[in-house]
Amino acid sequence: MMRVAVVGAGPAGVRAVEVLLEAGLRPVWIDEAAEGGGRIYQRPPAPLRRDAKALYGFEAGRATALHAALEAATARAEWRPQTLAWHIRPAARRLFTLHRGHQGVVEYDAALLCTGAMDRVIPVPGWTRPGVTTLGGAQIALKAQGCGIGRRVAFLGSGPLLWLVAYQYARAGAEVAAVLDTTPFLTKLKAAPGLLRNGPVFAKGLYYTAWLRARGVRIAEGITPLAIEGDDRSNGGGDGGGVTALRWRDAAGREDSVACDAVGLGWGLKPEAQLADLAGIPFDFDARQHNWVPRRDAAGRTPVPGHYLAGDGAGIGGAEVAELAGARAALALLADAGLPVEAARVAALDRALAAQARFRAALERAFPFPAALAAALPDAALLCRCEGLTAGELRAAARAEHAPGIAPEMNRAKAFTRVGMGRCQGRVCGAAAAEILAAELGQPVEAIGRLRGQPPVKPMPIPAVEPVA
Ligand SMILES: Cc1cc2nc3c(=O)[nH]c(=O)nc-3n(C[C@H](O)[C@H](O)[C@H](O)COP(=O)(O)OP(=O)(O)OC[C@H]3O[C@@H](n4cnc5c(N)ncnc54)[C@H](O)[C@@H]3O)c2cc1C
Repeated sequence: MMRVAVVGAGPAGVRAVEVLLEAGLRPVWIDEAAEGGGRIYQRPPAPLRRDAKALYGFEAGRATALHAALEAATARAEWRPQTLAWHIRPAARRLFTLHRGHQGVVEYDAALLCTGAMDRVIPVPGWTRPGVTTLGGAQIALKAQGCGIGRRVAFLGSGPLLWLVAYQYARAGAEVAAVLDTTPFLTKLKAAPGLLRNGPVFAKGLYYTAWLRARGVRIAEGITPLAIEGDDRSNGGGDGGGVTALRWRDAAGREDSVACDAVGLGWGLKPEAQLADLAGIPFDFDARQHNWVPRRDAAGRTPVPGHYLAGDGAGIGGAEVAELAGARAALALLADAGLPVEAARVAALDRALAAQARFRAALERAFPFPAALAAALPDAALLCRCEGLTAGELRAAARAEHAPGIAPEMNRAKAFTRVGMGRCQGRVCGAAAAEILAAELGQPVEAIGRLRGQPPVKPMPIPAVEPVA
């Protein structure tokens, strides 16, 4: 029987495995999380379980349906939770895993990577203070651990998650000090006609903002963040004291601030595509998403035979798209293996995906990535927290390197400065570092390139590391 490896048990992975099981295959299914569901439908551990409505709000119906599909599929697939896929060798068709400190190898004929996304961060002076997390991190605290990141929380950034997480915190009883959106109201308004392509999702977004406004939550749009301030005396005079306030400049140029003890920040999502990178799949710069995305066709086929992509790991599309794309990529895989697939099902999925793509384009116009904000990070601000590198140090290295015949790019900058060399491998600082480098060199950001993925894709204990072949 054909051996298929699927990485990721979010919406894309669940729907992909479902299709493979229907075709009589028994895929090896890997997720580093203890339970499937992915990011949006992440489930708390058993003692913290609450009903679906409390956990997922308007998405409760979709969450319940996906969890039911997940449970049915994990029972039939070769399900391997708490397993990190840390490396892949596409020519040998081997996937290297880590489960509770032990290394393993999965040999496959075809691999389907559904590795999802993570928050896209723009550093702000003070962003490493205790009490600052990403928007997604703040949401996971609420959803999976049943706690908030603070008592009086300010939310900063842009994109649908900003408003959703602020709403979820307020509903959970936290005091939302402010919602500070870097996107001007007018930019969002102009994108409104396109957003109507997915009326229900647009309506939910409007509801969250209206709900927050109706409760008197302080809201500002088109702002420029200046600093997250803290009580440095609480840290023995160092500069890492807990959050006390968030300061910004409003759209009219006036400085303002709000007292808070925690900040959730984020500017949309970026694909978790390190495995795709190690699989040798080429990447392209998607100007609309302002993200590097692994190359694949509309069905999820990549230029590397036997390797398929679906969901946010292949380009940010959201949970509905991930479900459709997971099923579509699995059907492509089956068709390429010469197994029968139903043409009408493929056509229906293609139509649904095309319709969603039009909505997504409007969403990207409504919340464009504020590249100039990232590029303007003050010299003294910490950029790469793993390596303790400031924005100014990266700029200085860029200037030193800018000589005829040398094409400065992200990987050279990494070699010279250690930016992105630490535990996160640039997953957190990489987007902003590229903007800073590009601005310093007067180049478009796509000319700066991207940090190449390196194994292991996430930190792993040294005793577990064995040579791989
Ligand atoms: C923190 C966060 C919060 C979000 N909250 C919302 C929300 O409230 N509402 C909303 O509409 N959208 C939300 N999104 C977006 C939404 O989660 C995604 O659009 C959707 O889940 C994409 O589905 P997916 O299957 O592609 O990926 P995901 O749901 O992200 O699933 C990917 C899975 O792959 C696993 N994985 C990744 N890499 C590896 C590896 N190397 N080895 C093993 N396992 C791996 C992960 O553990 C995860 O379970 C959120 C995204 C993030 C990052």
